[in-house]
Amino acid sequence: MRIQSVGVVGAGTMGSGIAALAASAGVPVVLLDIPGENGSDQPARRGLERALKARPAAFMSPQREALVRTGTIDRDLELLAGCDLVIEAIIEKPEPKRQLYERLTEVLDDDAIVATNTSGIPIHELAEGRTEGFRQRFLGMHFFNPPRYLHLLELIPTDDTSPEVMRAVERFSERILGKGIVVARDVPGFVANRLGVHGMALALRAMETHDLTIGEVDALTGPLIGRPKSAIFRTADITGLDVLSHVAKGLGEATGEDFSLPGWVAKLVAEGKLGEKSGTGFYQKEGKEIRTLDWKTGEYAVTAPTLPDEATALARQPLPARLRSVLALPGKYGAFMREVMLGSFHYVLEHAADLAYDLTSVDQALEWGYGWEMGPFRQMDAIGLDAVRAAFAERGLDEPRLLREAGDRFIARDEDGTERTLAVTGGQRISVSRQASHVTAADLRAGGNVVEETRDAALLDMGDGVLLFESRSKMNTLGQGVVQQLAKALDTVERGDYAGLVIGNDDTRAFSAGADLMMVAGAAQQGDWAGLERSIRGFQEMSMRLRQSPFPVVAAPFGLTLGGGCEFSLHCDRVQAHAELYMGLVEVGVGLIPGGGGTKELLFRFMKDLEPYEEADPFEAVKRAFQLIATAVTSTSALDARERGFLRREDRISMSRDLLLADAKRRVLDLATDYVAPAPMTVMALGKQAMGNLEYALWAFREAGQASEHDVRIGHHVAYVLAGGDAAPRIVTEQDILDLEREAFLTLLGVRETQDRIAHMLKTGKPLRN
Ligand code: NAD
Repeated sequence: MRIQSVGVVGAGTMGSGIAALAASAGVPVVLLDIPGENGSDQPARRGLERALKARPAAFMSPQREALVRTGTIDRDLELLAGCDLVIEAIIEKPEPKRQLYERLTEVLDDDAIVATNTSGIPIHELAEGRTEGFRQRFLGMHFFNPPRYLHLLELIPTDDTSPEVMRAVERFSERILGKGIVVARDVPGFVANRLGVHGMALALRAMETHDLTIGEVDALTGPLIGRPKSAIFRTADITGLDVLSHVAKGLGEATGEDFSLPGWVAKLVAEGKLGEKSGTGFYQKEGKEIRTLDWKTGEYAVTAPTLPDEATALARQPLPARLRSVLALPGKYGAFMREVMLGSFHYVLEHAADLAYDLTSVDQALEWGYGWEMGPFRQMDAIGLDAVRAAFAERGLDEPRLLREAGDRFIARDEDGTERTLAVTGGQRISVSRQASHVTAADLRAGGNVVEETRDAALLDMGDGVLLFESRSKMNTLGQGVVQQLAKALDTVERGDYAGLVIGNDDTRAFSAGADLMMVAGAAQQGDWAGLERSIRGFQEMSMRLRQSPFPVVAAPFGLTLGGGCEFSLHCDRVQAHAELYMGLVEVGVGLIPGGGGTKELLFRFMKDLEPYEEADPFEAVKRAFQLIATAVTSTSALDARERGFLRREDRISMSRDLLLADAKRRVLDLATDYVAPAPMTVMALGKQAMGNLEYALWAFREAGQASEHDVRIGHHVAYVLAGGDAAPRIVTEQDILDLEREAFLTLLGVRETQDRIAHMLKTGKPLRN
């Protein structure tokens, strides 16, 4: 059973987002909604247009819109006949959903799968009255908003859903859509919302008891305990207070448990203060000013960020230590945190077996769905189970069965690094099979597969003769230490009996934020030009070595892949990129040009692209590279990176971040069998004439007020390198252009405005427009 085409019914917030995600993955989609005026497909069209305009973008490339066909459920239901999977995302009411399924049975193929995106209606109730065949091919697919960016997808089989259907949907959801799959039981709220909303309601009630302000609660429940900056109240504002109240009420009714929210929250909802969508909620935004609600008076006021002094001191500790310290805070902050955290742990322990099939899924639901750094079981392991037991006893809470069975850990590792987790029932230890295909640097390290390791980087053995180079600096910036270790890694692969190398890491945000600016700025300040020349040369040589080593090197970039991180990726034999790739040569932002081979590489790459076409104007290649570099273009996805030329046709994209390193390893093995390093290249540099054209463009930008003097100066250097100088056209080698690149880089580094840009970036993290 293979899912190759998808139907989505309901083109609202969720349906249009799901359609955009599937189309981004390359899957043809039929998107239906109710008929508009005169039976038109206006509602579905509007949904599609909303997805096209959404920010952050719902589509990974606007070109993928072509894969979506819109229609109405009255006129075009037959279009679903060819779909292997139909996802229903219509109004959250049982009757219309059931009526739709009845109509679907008339048109769908016998083996088509039907899924509902409901967040609150029991899946088995929606299947009532349908044939056995239908029920075997029916399940819940609970996406989170927005579907492209929220990694979690809960799959909810009923007792009737066939294992074969589950396998097909799991494979499709993980491999093709790239989602993080959690299989949930068919219970109210499934896993993520049941636990997430319970924790929010608990915190809201506890803040009243302990007399905390909204600012204090958000300061305590954000990054300090490994949760997103939006903490509790900003998250609720984004979700919508009406939605939160509605879901909490529904969960309270369905479970008989306490999901009650304070009265002042109901008052806000009644007054239409619903959060971000209405401009006012727990916070209120007026121009640039953000005011916070005083829940006692109902007034809004600007307040300074309020991380209590005792908590500020903890911010630098690693998360496990932070969690322990937060539980031990004195005064009302400690009392609040103990009530919220221990109350949540206790609830999770009591309910995990009813919600999920394994504990890992519970952790992942909160990590992927609510952005927690660690799920509750990993948190309890980090705090220490005896400490949790003692804290429960102190509060008069009993010791739940799971905690009793856990001994000293919920999740332990075998000697070979395999994670073994306490089963939800029965007390034995299990390994969660889905993880077998996920390779992470952390798992490799835990399994003792370390070939070499320093503070800056590690070289890990992925098995089958493939090594993984993992940088370990902050945001994976490339400083001297990382580059030296990479050189050593290449030596090791070359000397040993290895197939090749993957470059990648486990970070959640950045494959690499680029060269270590601090180091560059320091050397420039001390006037160590000889040292700088050596480092830039070393950087360029490293790029070329990645290309020319006698074995395949595959980069596995994801997220921020900037400057030097982009340059190294461009020089690897292949790139296996994650779909969410924000790649660019952004050096002009700090007053420089790409000096590690990036300028050279784009010129050669785009020139070579044109070679098969006799009529093509080679200046087009120069212009293309110039635009990317001079305007510091960063891709908005891997598809976009491919359209812009940062990725080549032969570079591949993994939709799932979890599978990225495993996919990169496979690419190495694929290339290794008959690998020969690519031959050195030459191109015709256009010289004076190309210079003239680009200088003119720069002048026009300056005249239009779109570029500063310094922008023009940097642009001039980019143009000079891309034109191969300002003499007559000539054949150039890669080294010729690398030499020009290095010279331009060093010249710019000596200019005050560039040094100001670097200093500003280091201080604020933002580019200076001087
Ligand atoms: P929405 O109101 O934005 O969109 C619903 C769409 O369905 C509308 O375009 C409407 O015209 C259409 N529709 C209504 N009845 C229909 C019918 N009989 N046939 C065809 N189309 C019909 O709602 P939404 O937020 O996208 O939610 C859709 C489903 O997804 C609900 O079941 C909801 O519980 C669930 N869900 C929502 C979220 C969320 O954050 N919004 C998250 C997860 C799941």
